[in-house]
Amino acid sequence: MGELIYAGKAKQMWTTDDDQVLRVVYMDQATALNGKKKDQIKGKGPVNNAISTLIFRYLMKHGIETCLLEKTSATEQLVRRVQIIPLEMITRNVAAGHFATRFGVEEGKPFSTPVEEMCLKSDELDDPAINASQAEALGVVTAAELDQMWAISRKVDQLLAPLFKQAGLELIDFKLEFGRLPNGHVILADEFSPDNCRLWDAKTRHHMDKDVYRRDLGDLTPVYEEVLARLQQVLGQEEK
Ligand code: 5GP
Repeated sequence: MGELIYAGKAKQMWTTDDDQVLRVVYMDQATALNGKKKDQIKGKGPVNNAISTLIFRYLMKHGIETCLLEKTSATEQLVRRVQIIPLEMITRNVAAGHFATRFGVEEGKPFSTPVEEMCLKSDELDDPAINASQAEALGVVTAAELDQMWAISRKVDQLLAPLFKQAGLELIDFKLEFGRLPNGHVILADEFSPDNCRLWDAKTRHHMDKDVYRRDLGDLTPVYEEVLARLQQVLGQEEK
């Protein structure tokens, strides 16, 4: 069964017989406003696991190293154990969310060059914005690691924006997390799902991501299932 080592807002991490491998359990739970809004959402765990597995496999096929080893059930994955770097690396293709509210601009303006932002992962401090020199001063990352993380983030954007476009979705923005292997090598960790990106329907510009929950726009699970169905159609791939 293993030992529960981390209980996050939407996932749990358990140890396995192999100390380099963890079991991730995707839960039927959604949170927003740094956990102040929290609900059980039936069916969310399996659909997020399916989407994230599909996306990570696609990225791996195109040369990006990730923590994913295997999807083992509807709600579970085995992943490589990494030391998580406590930074949220955000890439924005279109103004939305906090970019729009912070700078007083309307949502929907595309950027000619993607905007890159970082936040420190800290529930107590409400994930404050942080720059490279601050993160290095805190000792959470090195300059060389940051270069690698941004290079990977740019490649992820270049791979996924066209993929989602084929699925009739605009990749508005996304948040990545990275971790270190025991040899210090930095790889993509956590997940890629509509929980940590914004996707708008290309025709209607309707929200097809966690903003449906954050903004009380309707049921989340059918929206995520539609994203999954479109991706499966594009990738022509059967998921477990
Ligand atoms: P914003 O800064 O506009 O709130 O978020 C930008 C992008 O990063 C969105 O796609 C959002 O889902 C993602 N993001 C930012 N912070 C978090 C976070 O703490 N958790 C998750 N899951 N996603 C985040």
